[in-house]
Amino acid sequence: MNNKLYGNLIFELSQEGRKGYSLPKNRFGDYAVPAELRRQQDAQLPECDEMTVVRHYTNLSANNFGVDNGFYPLGSCTMKYNPKINEEMAALPQFQNLHPLQPADTVRGAEAVCTLLCRALCELTGLHAFTLKPFAGAHGELTGLMVIKKYHESRGDDKRRLVIVPDSAHGTNPASAAVCGLDIVEVKSLADGTIDVDALRELLTVCGDSVAAMMMTNPNTLGLFERQIPAIEKLIHDCGGLMYYDGANLNPMLGAARPGDMGFDVMHINLHKTFSTPHGGGGPGAGPVGVRQGLEQFFPEVSPYHGNFAVAIRAYAYILSLGREHIKEVGPLATLNANYIKECLKDVYELPIDGLCKHEFVFDGLKDKSTGVTTMDVAKRLLDYGYHAPTIYFPLLFHESLMIEPTENESKETIDGFIAVMRQIAEEARNTPDEVKSAPHNTPIGRVDDVLAAKHPIVTYRQLVADAQS
Ligand SMILES: *Cc1c(COP(=O)(O)O)cnc(C)c1O
Repeated sequence: MNNKLYGNLIFELSQEGRKGYSLPKNRFGDYAVPAELRRQQDAQLPECDEMTVVRHYTNLSANNFGVDNGFYPLGSCTMKYNPKINEEMAALPQFQNLHPLQPADTVRGAEAVCTLLCRALCELTGLHAFTLKPFAGAHGELTGLMVIKKYHESRGDDKRRLVIVPDSAHGTNPASAAVCGLDIVEVKSLADGTIDVDALRELLTVCGDSVAAMMMTNPNTLGLFERQIPAIEKLIHDCGGLMYYDGANLNPMLGAARPGDMGFDVMHINLHKTFSTPHGGGGPGAGPVGVRQGLEQFFPEVSPYHGNFAVAIRAYAYILSLGREHIKEVGPLATLNANYIKECLKDVYELPIDGLCKHEFVFDGLKDKSTGVTTMDVAKRLLDYGYHAPTIYFPLLFHESLMIEPTENESKETIDGFIAVMRQIAEEARNTPDEVKSAPHNTPIGRVDDVLAAKHPIVTYRQLVADAQS
């Protein structure tokens, strides 16, 4: 960190005795804090004037990268534009000042938002009922699997402990199954990236009567539509299991095809992905879970009150502003953008699975492997050009995965700009590979040691730690 603007921590700007606040006159009298609750030593706080504090945090905030300041093709995450009307709706004082323990007859409007959102989600997915309680996609997976577990238990069918997960699945699928106390079996993909139905059939002959559910993502994490769903659904239902749909990739399906019509019993939706509510850096999110008729009585209590209500408002505002007519355009546009990028770059980046994709696709690094430039290097170099990197090293099916999802909102000019830069980087990899391998060069922080950063992160102010130890 050699740039002065970014280099200082607020503690380093501190000047003893400097003040950036003035408290109002004490109108309440003095009350002694009991001795056992008092600090032994003064808290070590930075002492700065107000202007210094404002500049410090404003400059820090300018280091943020978001969909509002640049192209963000992070595969699997659907970083679409978050329309500002959603924010206005969520910020209405009539919503914002509600308390979850208010008498029900004073919150009919908020109730209506939840009911109408659930109704819209039912219509978009072909399922019967939704709960808005889960706070994220992974939380929704856990909730959905709890529904499935309770369903089997309610029938006295308690040997069903297996969850079948394709090898292309998002890591949260097996993790949720494990947290739910279920066992995981993996089913392989074919060379074309879709589920191997013969391998599944074979697996079921061995353990069919212990299968609780099959989890599928569609389009899958390679951006491919799983064409064998009717056959898979029949195999699983015939042996008594239920079908779970990971709806994180619902975007290209919006208004085009419905999981309920494909025979899925339970699904989650990532409102923060498909329904345009801001996410990143861990939240906020919402992962509503939908079920077919007859399963709604198994919804568990997974959060207090009504889940992440402000996210629900934003999602509902988004659905209403697109309406029945325009919501159908989301999927085709997202799909068109992804295929356009794929076709424009596949002569310089390795495309392991050719053909039409849905909203996203995966390259397996640069086509020319002789340069020694890796997917990590390409991702770092993109930062120099002002783009957020695609998702890298996921899915695990390829060594150099580079997963690109442009979403439907981007203009042709933005996408052409990204394509030009990706081609430029491929060119650099041939001519000046060291430039790429040492990127980023233009960001406040250069190349970090990933292992060190993950294993020994320093998340508190170093000096404070040192002081505490001495
Ligand atoms: C994002 C994602 C999840 C997890 O959702 P979170 O909201 O991040 O918990 C699960 N499955 C797939 C395919 C995803 O892309």
